[in-house]
Amino acid sequence: MTVKVGVFGAAGRMGGTVCEAVLRDPDTELVAAVDPHHEGLDVRTVTGVDAPGLVVGGSFEAMTDAGVEVVVDFTGASAARENLRWCAANGVHAVVGTTGLTEADNDEFRAAFTKSNCVIAPNFAIGAVLMIRLSEIVAPYFESVEVIELHHENKTDAPSGTAMLTVERIAAASSDWLPDPTTTEVLPGARGAKGPADIPVHSIRLKGLVAHQEVMFGTTGQSLVIRHDSYDRSSFMPGVLLAVKRVAHRPGLTLGLDALLDL
Ligand code: NAP
Repeated sequence: MTVKVGVFGAAGRMGGTVCEAVLRDPDTELVAAVDPHHEGLDVRTVTGVDAPGLVVGGSFEAMTDAGVEVVVDFTGASAARENLRWCAANGVHAVVGTTGLTEADNDEFRAAFTKSNCVIAPNFAIGAVLMIRLSEIVAPYFESVEVIELHHENKTDAPSGTAMLTVERIAAASSDWLPDPTTTEVLPGARGAKGPADIPVHSIRLKGLVAHQEVMFGTTGQSLVIRHDSYDRSSFMPGVLLAVKRVAHRPGLTLGLDALLDL
């Protein structure tokens, strides 16, 4: 049996790629594509794949009418909040890649998803998930750490969800970090933003990039750099499709792709 999938943000960079991946996977069926400001667009023009008769819808009704079982959301944080409230209220499973959601949002969704399930992952690339896991293992052996995340020029939230999750997990693995020696910040912000355990996070936005991150560890006489690069949005698709196929079996809210990979 195929999974009936609807995509929020279907005309966007990630949403369009998800539509294409869903169309190409024999176990999933793209039944609805929603993106309010792009209503009426032929899905073929966003995906390059034949999707006979499927046009981008402008409202939740397009999801309801198509009988979606799983919704994928790659929009923006405020749109995702509304979309997820709708999913929870209507018993539709949700797979969410949208970043910028907060702990308070997670608490709300944990309480709201009782009739259906929700998987939220700030990064669906397996390499990024492993980067975070490896950072956790390395953390107790080093005294300094800084995170540098690099993204394309259109990303509107900073730091990235992946960077936030990385510092949270590093801080949970070790709180024993050298203090920042800076006494004079000539340009405010030069030392980055401070995340949990005061770990500095630096966000770079550059045309030509997709999604990249370095976690730099230092201790006496040595450093260790863990770097992950997503060169293409296709890097996220195996993770998204895995979540689409497994979300029905993960009661309530699941945070992070790790849980689906048994890392
Ligand atoms: P994008 O190209 O701007 O696409 C977002 C799309 O959502 C746009 O077409 C936007 O419409 C549409 N949208 C806005 N409100 C909507 C609503 N209420 N319902 C349905 N669609 C709506 O952005 P992107 O690069 O695809 O990124 C989207 C999100 O995914 C970001 O939060 C990004 O950080 C995240 N992301 C996550 C991962 C991951 O692995 N988890 C990977 C990459 C990106 P307009 O054009 O009218 O604004």
